[in-house]
Amino acid sequence: AVPVIAIDGPSASGKGTVTQRVAEALGWHYLDSGALYRLTALAARKAGVDWNNEAAVAHIAAHLPVHFAGGLTFLGDEAVDDQMRTEEMGIGASTVGALPAVREALLLRQRAFRQAPGLVADGRDMGSVVFPDATTKVFLTASAAVRAERRYKQLMEKGFSAKLQNILQDLEDRDARDAARSVAPLRQEADAKLLETSHLTIVQAVNQVLDWSGN
Ligand code: C5P
Repeated sequence: AVPVIAIDGPSASGKGTVTQRVAEALGWHYLDSGALYRLTALAARKAGVDWNNEAAVAHIAAHLPVHFAGGLTFLGDEAVDDQMRTEEMGIGASTVGALPAVREALLLRQRAFRQAPGLVADGRDMGSVVFPDATTKVFLTASAAVRAERRYKQLMEKGFSAKLQNILQDLEDRDARDAARSVAPLRQEADAKLLETSHLTIVQAVNQVLDWSGN
């Protein structure tokens, strides 16, 4: 089977950056599963569909006209990276992600990313649901305070204004909702290794994952 490194963890833990760099280092494919949930929320919003309308949102998820090209994410022929990276779409992703029919609709689409020579996948349920037979499973996290500061810096760099206190509150609310939901709740699997990155650099975190994966 094509090897998979599954990297799960809470929002703004740095798992996106670590996952991308591990994939680059190995020359493997990369799956940002959160992007699919964000795109589903965005496409629903554009279609005027309520995020809690399970059947309608699942239909949108199953037929998302998404493609990734040149480092950009396209919905139809529109590049939507800026629109999908907002806190609002993070909340939308977490709302639609709580609907079982939506998770089911995105399952095969995510598994299709598993292609030779290997896949590094980032999300909440990569090791538990999507790739339960992953060769390496990592639960990557950091303290809420450190994660809020990382997100704050990212937003400042992009020229957005935000209050650290609000970001911390949003992160904690979203994590609580992701952990409490009945389908694919966010938690460390028994066979996942814990990578606490509060006091690690990106390079140290990447090297630890490569080391665990035997690469
Ligand atoms: O990782 P990111 O912040 O882009 O994810 C946005 C939201 O999408 C998460 O808070 C979570 O609710 C949902 N999600 C999920 N399962 C995944 C990836 C993301 O439910 N595999």
